[in-house]
Amino acid sequence: MDDAAAEQAVERLRAMIRIPTVSRMAPEVADESQFMAFRALLAELYPLTIEQLGLEIVGGGTLLFRWAGRGTGAPSVLMAHYDLVPADEPGWTHGAFDAELVGSGDERRIWGRGAIDDKGMLAVILEAVEAALADGFEPAADLYLSFGHNEETAGDGASDVVALFKERGIRPALVIDEGGAVVTGVFPGIDAPIAVVGVTEKGIAGVELSVSKKGGHASTPVRGGATSRLARAILRLERSPSRASISAPTMAMIRALGPHARQPLRVLFTRAGAFRGLLTTAFARLGPETEAMVRTTRAVTRLTGSAGDNVIAERATAMVNVRIAVGSSLEQAVSDIRKAVNDPEVAVRLVYGSEPAPVSRSEGPVWRLLSDAITDVFPGSVVAPYVMLQASDSRHFAEISDGVYRFLPFDLTAAERGTLHAIDESIRVSTYLRGIEFFTRLISAL
Ligand SMILES: [Zn+2]
Repeated sequence: MDDAAAEQAVERLRAMIRIPTVSRMAPEVADESQFMAFRALLAELYPLTIEQLGLEIVGGGTLLFRWAGRGTGAPSVLMAHYDLVPADEPGWTHGAFDAELVGSGDERRIWGRGAIDDKGMLAVILEAVEAALADGFEPAADLYLSFGHNEETAGDGASDVVALFKERGIRPALVIDEGGAVVTGVFPGIDAPIAVVGVTEKGIAGVELSVSKKGGHASTPVRGGATSRLARAILRLERSPSRASISAPTMAMIRALGPHARQPLRVLFTRAGAFRGLLTTAFARLGPETEAMVRTTRAVTRLTGSAGDNVIAERATAMVNVRIAVGSSLEQAVSDIRKAVNDPEVAVRLVYGSEPAPVSRSEGPVWRLLSDAITDVFPGSVVAPYVMLQASDSRHFAEISDGVYRFLPFDLTAAERGTLHAIDESIRVSTYLRGIEFFTRLISAL
């Protein structure tokens, strides 16, 4: 890409960031006109894609494009989402929707909510597709683009697309969605950049603990009321974490990283099978991130008691946000919580939940195609499968594909990763351009 083309690509992402397509938990407060404006903008920015690829709007706003392939091989799907988490918190260095372009050299950045998550991803896909269309390229098999409109909230846009694919008997060989990235300095003893590709993701559940007791006036309290009973349950939960265990995909990650680690970690990682117990303990103790890799985690997020300062609660509740380890299950997670709480007066109720996603293959031709594209564009990087700790839209696709990979083709620093869903989200121009290069390279191989 020459400099002029690169500057135009930068301007297109800036235009996308200026439209605040914010998803709100209450659908009635989401501003639908912004979503319409965004769709109109895409038609302006990527005319060939809009004209030549059949577009269907699914589930009220998810955009599904089909690029007809030359042959009848299994199709691929490139995913992104154009809704955003809110940017209401104060303290942004540059306005969240101003799309300012600041700095020079490798520190030249595009600022704003969505610069990475996930308009950055959307833009690099569309830039690569539009350029390939301009070149007259035709993919060997069908290529779909699926751009969600409510990933950050309901996420049913993606499940609607999957339902449509099922109806039409479409089984993609390869699905790429947001997820891991190219990171440095995350794993102890490894200096090379690591491209972590999510091959599965943890399950998620909301489990409610509740205690109902006689209330009354706060001037004459009774010991062991609903709130203190609930507090005891919460402490018990924290004192008995679920069992730690290294799942098969985490094992595959450790083995992939092994040869690139410094001694003595190299021995430990390359012979991970023999050191399983030691590694499990180390992961569980090293820090919250590695701990989350080896066990089902629970976070008590929302508490309710009575509505008045001087009213004793008749009912107290705690919402536990549970992330279920690959290899475990919803049922196991709930029964472990019940066991840990160990109190018949505390009701434990599963409010919502989804199982951990099926594990996609980290070997074979599809994996190789992807990892070759990564190492071509990020030379010197080590490609490793991993278990994504967060939930993404792509988990729905795991029902119809064995090759669902969660990967943002961006080299991101720890500080940059920390801005996702927080203040000061921004992307380096060089990172963005390399993302375009990645999809250009990948699409040419499809
Ligand atoms: Zn996202």
